Amino acid sequence: MPQAKAYAANSQTSPLAPTSIPRRDPTERDVEIQILFCGICHSDLHAVRNEWSEFTPTVYPIVPGHEIVGRVTNVGSNVTKFKAGDLVGVGCMVAADLTCNECREDYEQFCPNRILTYNSPDEHLGGVTYGGYSEYVVVDEHFVLRIPSNLDLAGTAPLLCAGITTYSPLRHWGVTKGKKVGIVGLGGLGHMGVKLAHAMGAHVAVFSTSPEKKEDALRLGADEAIMSRNTEEMEKHAGTFDFILDTVSAQHDINSYLALLARDGNLTLVGAPPEPLGVAAFSLIGGRHSLSGSAIGGIRQTQEMLDFCGEHNLTADVEVIPIQKINEAYERLAKSDVKYRFSIEMASLEAD
Ligand code: NAP
Ligand code: ZN
Repeated sequence: MPQAKAYAANSQTSPLAPTSIPRRDPTERDVEIQILFCGICHSDLHAVRNEWSEFTPTVYPIVPGHEIVGRVTNVGSNVTKFKAGDLVGVGCMVAADLTCNECREDYEQFCPNRILTYNSPDEHLGGVTYGGYSEYVVVDEHFVLRIPSNLDLAGTAPLLCAGITTYSPLRHWGVTKGKKVGIVGLGGLGHMGVKLAHAMGAHVAVFSTSPEKKEDALRLGADEAIMSRNTEEMEKHAGTFDFILDTVSAQHDINSYLALLARDGNLTLVGAPPEPLGVAAFSLIGGRHSLSGSAIGGIRQTQEMLDFCGEHNLTADVEVIPIQKINEAYERLAKSDVKYRFSIEMASLEAD
């Protein structure tokens, strides 16, 4: 069985460390990809530390990573969309049944049989799937995306999760010019939400708990930055937002954001704190507000997002690190100290 160098955690308290993992030989539908960059998503941290044990328990060892950009090295005989040498991306999913209603409507993320890039049953090799903190990956061509040629690759990797996870609800809730949009949390997802909502023409406000991020918020495209711990500053915006996207990874009070929605305004959660969030009925009743969630996006929409980013020359603001700095990066991510996404340069694996 072919082996790939990778970084894995062996338990919820172990650091990530070098290892090797099996990868399948490409089937006729598969694309083999040498990984150039992989972003670090807060979901990787939740999973490594088994913080979502109630919903999706982690199987160890875990190799995280679902913001993958790389170069095609080999393709199966029936692959039509890609050839060796192409620059491609892989996001959070690597398989689905492609026959159910969800798949037929381009919502593979909601397919009951979808397989995530890591910590999902591996139908080819047994065990679980292993993600992008690795040398190479083998993926069904349906789940491989084309990368616009003008984009910086390190900054493109995070588009495969942070980009689509924010693009999809912004589109679904009709964000355009003339809408007032709030983005809660200026992290990996949040900073992409700001860039995308700005590019869609909306008036964008960032809600942050970090005063030192205020200037960056404006530079990234926000029209205003609101310090969410300042009640007076928050109350000035009561009843004015058409749409609020909440990207916060930990427990927080969503009622203070629901109060800022205009009539029929919506707050969508993409952040996935492990603990339940308390919602006061009166936060929704008053202005016929709605609260909803959103998960990544389908493959067709992920390609649409990448093409949109190509047209607008949009990528994530990244700190590029070698894989040997991964545990330090996790400590900083846990403290909201990232500007604004870590992107691992995977060639650094050779040093181990
Ligand atoms: P991140 O880079 O760590 O950003 C999260 C931001 O939330 C932080 O930068 C911080 O922003 C704010 N924050 C953190 N702790 C907080 C607290 N206790 N109270 C208030 N604000 C806090 O994380 P990310 O990679 O963007 O991911 C964010 C969340 O989305 C994670 O839970 C992740 O698992 C989830 N996620 C969901 C999907 C999906 O499909 N729905 C996809 C990817 C990720 P400020 O410093 O500005 O306050
Ligand atoms: Zn992610």
